[in-house]
Amino acid sequence: MAASFINFLRTLRTNVFGGSELSGRKATGFNLPGMPGSDSDTSYYCPCCETESPDFLNWNEEYKGVICPVCDSRPRHRLFWLFASEFRLFHPHYGSILHLAPEPMLKPLMRLTPDVQYVTGDLHLPAMDVRMDLTKAPFPDQSFDVILCCHVLEVVNDDSAALREIQRILKPGGWAWIQVWVEQSNLATLEDPAATSPGDRLRLYGHETCSRLYGHDYGKRVEASGLTFHAFPYAHDRIGPRMANRYRVEPETQLFFATRGQSKIDALMARQ
Ligand SMILES: [Zn+2]
Repeated sequence: MAASFINFLRTLRTNVFGGSELSGRKATGFNLPGMPGSDSDTSYYCPCCETESPDFLNWNEEYKGVICPVCDSRPRHRLFWLFASEFRLFHPHYGSILHLAPEPMLKPLMRLTPDVQYVTGDLHLPAMDVRMDLTKAPFPDQSFDVILCCHVLEVVNDDSAALREIQRILKPGGWAWIQVWVEQSNLATLEDPAATSPGDRLRLYGHETCSRLYGHDYGKRVEASGLTFHAFPYAHDRIGPRMANRYRVEPETQLFFATRGQSKIDALMARQ
């Protein structure tokens, strides 16, 4: 594993995009799960599987203690779970959810919205409902209320086409979780069409399957598709360093969303 990849995993900083409308907002009364007792500060807690563990598994020798040993959640999954729980993202009745490259530990969240049409999709993973290329999504316009797309856009060859497809298949009022890795030191997204070999991509982007390494312009790239971009400094604003360590999430990681028209995400922003 290249050191640069480890570094960019560690530098998912919220200040890339500056402050958010949620910064400084008041508490909503949400109680963080797994609050430690007086003698439990040395253990970790995974909100996805509600499990206490003395240690989490290593990604590698440099990025240690980040994988839940029970449900395999990574920091991004635990952060999204906490966010979705606090803001009851899946409590309304959504008609349809598209989950791309679906993470098993997140599926229980979908059970909170009754009678939903839940569709899984991926180009390579087995046992998907739909085997699909996101740049040519095989769905009619305005098909989904929610799209979950975590660490997918980095590996798509044409992310502009993928974002246009997300915009097309989202219903008005819909939202998409579009989490990506962002390199804090990159003002602009690093992307070289000539870098097609695994070796070149590993050298340039830190991972052999990535097609780019996003920079500060990620939000603008999203909005070029017609979507509205939102960045939530959730861990920084709501969790704090002590609990961030307990959940093994990066305190400065932002959650990234795209919306089409006025959505629940926009409403969260507007009420601050
Ligand atoms: Zn877990």
